[in-house]
Amino acid sequence: MLERKPLTTGATVGILGGGQLGRMLALAAAELGLAAHIYSPDPDSPAFDVSRARTLAAWDDEIALAAFAAVVDVITIEFENVPLATAEFLAARKRFHPGPAALAVAQDRLAEKNLMTRLGLAVPPFAAINAEDDIVPALAEIGLPAVLKTRRLGYDGRGQAVIRSAADAPVAWQAIGEARAILESFVSFERELSVLVARAADGATAAYDVSENRHEHHILATATVPAAIDEATTTEAVAIGRAIAEDLAYVGVLAVELFAVAAPGGTRLLVNEIAPRVHNSFHWTKDACLVSQFEQHIRAVAGWPLGSTWRHSDAVTANLLGADIEGAAALAAEPDVAVHVYGKKEARPGRKMGHFTRISPRT
Ligand code: AMP
Repeated sequence: MLERKPLTTGATVGILGGGQLGRMLALAAAELGLAAHIYSPDPDSPAFDVSRARTLAAWDDEIALAAFAAVVDVITIEFENVPLATAEFLAARKRFHPGPAALAVAQDRLAEKNLMTRLGLAVPPFAAINAEDDIVPALAEIGLPAVLKTRRLGYDGRGQAVIRSAADAPVAWQAIGEARAILESFVSFERELSVLVARAADGATAAYDVSENRHEHHILATATVPAAIDEATTTEAVAIGRAIAEDLAYVGVLAVELFAVAAPGGTRLLVNEIAPRVHNSFHWTKDACLVSQFEQHIRAVAGWPLGSTWRHSDAVTANLLGADIEGAAALAAEPDVAVHVYGKKEARPGRKMGHFTRISPRT
């Protein structure tokens, strides 16, 4: 049973955040006949270009938030660092998926680790760090090398510092801005994987094929399907995604980043982090699947039935960072490539400007 009737033509999905993920969600909403209304504090939001309505206002502007909640039919997010007070203010006024509880977990690495532990899911050994003096004793427990990560507002490697000896502790503490943190064991993984699970309000779930991801300078470089993993690892990855989504009574798509580690008897999966939204490592779903992650998320939050996750092609997605975007037209000439340009004005080094997916016949 669906929670409510599916949203139909002309209904509006409110999206918090105006980046490329919001842009691709808005395009997917349009394909189902729905309109998108983007709420973003950034005048240069790439999602504004493709949406029926926009609100350019701060996250704490309660007048703008109330007006936004009044005109949309459901609210969702394109990035997880929407302030919790904003999410709670909106959730009190309008259907909001995924809810503030999922955001609270995803915004705090310690809450995230505690949730995984409660669910019996493996994570790298970790310790909470509240002050510089906590680091050396924690290193004694966890071992070297280790990674110090801010609990909040870290992404694409920001707010992280590797510690190779106890003498690195003061520099690492300064490098992360002396913020509350977690210290975690540096994992020598065989590969990085991610799983994306969609969950509807009625509890139905669907999972895409597991993606194998390579990072450069902490930013996703490529996402490849199929991943070079066995059936048991696939089953376990999907079970991890489902367990987290169930526990959070989640509605929408949820990405879980995993480290695959060689262990006696097979591969062991450790949860790195979750993203309560569409994810860079599943952009290939747009070109290699019947229903993309973007449409799947819109379906879930709009009360539509979940779509097929069937993948018709093998695929590799690569980001176009900074000046890479200048190669977009040349890539577009290749017959097996789909190019996606985000329309950002300034191509700063390392900035995600677009991506492309190269498909090949399914193996
Ligand atoms: P994160 O922001 O936590 O997802 O980290 C970004 C990337 O840094 C990961 O995808 C890994 O490539 C690397 N990384 C993060 N944590 C660890 C760790 N504990 N051990 C090894 N590599 C890590």
